[in-house]
Amino acid sequence: MTRPSRVVIDKQALKHNLQRVRELAPNSKIMAIIKADAYGHGLVRVANTLSDADAFGVACLEEAEQLRAASITTPIVLLEGPHKAVELISIVQLQLEIVIHNAFQLEILEQTTLEKPLQVWVKIDTGMHRLGFPLDNIRDILKRVADCKNIKSSFRLMTHLATANEQNNPLTQIQLENFKQVCDGFDVEKTIANSAAVIGFPETHADWNRPGLMLYGVSPIADRHAHELNLKPVMTLESELISIQNLKKGEPVGYGATWRCPEDMPVGVVAAGYGDGFPRHAKSGTPVLVNDVRCSLIGRASMDMLTIDLRNQPQAKVGDRVVLWGESLPVEEIAQYADTIPYELLCGVHKRLEFIEHG
Ligand SMILES: *Cc1c(COP(=O)(O)O)cnc(C)c1O
Repeated sequence: MTRPSRVVIDKQALKHNLQRVRELAPNSKIMAIIKADAYGHGLVRVANTLSDADAFGVACLEEAEQLRAASITTPIVLLEGPHKAVELISIVQLQLEIVIHNAFQLEILEQTTLEKPLQVWVKIDTGMHRLGFPLDNIRDILKRVADCKNIKSSFRLMTHLATANEQNNPLTQIQLENFKQVCDGFDVEKTIANSAAVIGFPETHADWNRPGLMLYGVSPIADRHAHELNLKPVMTLESELISIQNLKKGEPVGYGATWRCPEDMPVGVVAAGYGDGFPRHAKSGTPVLVNDVRCSLIGRASMDMLTIDLRNQPQAKVGDRVVLWGESLPVEEIAQYADTIPYELLCGVHKRLEFIEHG
């Protein structure tokens, strides 16, 4: 690849962050969430690096197939469960565990004959109203689960929190109370916490936790920085300057001529753009590092290029390194400038980029 843009993955940082989850919740097993190509970091790469995880959580069968094809033997949980009855064949073959969250999934388990019972995680909708069995007839559902010959008697109970990234939203306590009532009388393993709850709500730490974002070194909580939580960013998106223009006061930069030079100044062109997953909606002023010095994006992001105010780096030359996010430039900050969340930026890095591993 001749284009000087790449994604650098720091495997030591990934291991460090898993260790941080263990420190924060020492009595809980870890289902490392690696859906969406491990939040853009590379599914198999991340699974191999996080070999100490107790299980992996993925979104779909294709992701689980990739992991098994790469000889990964760790338990794998299909977080959305089967969408069709035929998937049960592969689920048994690949020895997957499944979440079930609706009546259809319970029915297909009741109506087939499997060689061996499956490990099933029964997801309860305690208030987020996305996936999960509703509370009103949950006792009947759990009785059917317990009676189903294709479900191991050691089934597990699960819920997901809608507002764990906020410290004071009353919904979290309502959801926890609902879950507690559902679990009452069931001596089975349970799981509640995503990253935000692992960090912000120790009372949610159950037999299992399900961290995703924090494993990648990113804070799930708006006003808490990753470094203060001792999380290390795993992904660095970097490129190089491929051109420098010395422009005069008043001259415009980029598509739409939306930005004009306030004085005579150097402007750098970076070889990365929205075609690589950099957000087109990043505003002028979005920070970038040129030779480790903070500069800022100016004008609109193009498909393959960005334009940068180089007044903080007047000596910069073609070929100099530019960091768009990662070490010393949290992706959380870029997300704010682009009116989005770090999850979306990480998942959005394009596979056309070269990926390099460190550590
Ligand atoms: C994605 C996901 C998680 C992980 O969430 P983070 O905020 O990335 O920690 C946990 N549980 C379920 C069910 C998920 O879908």
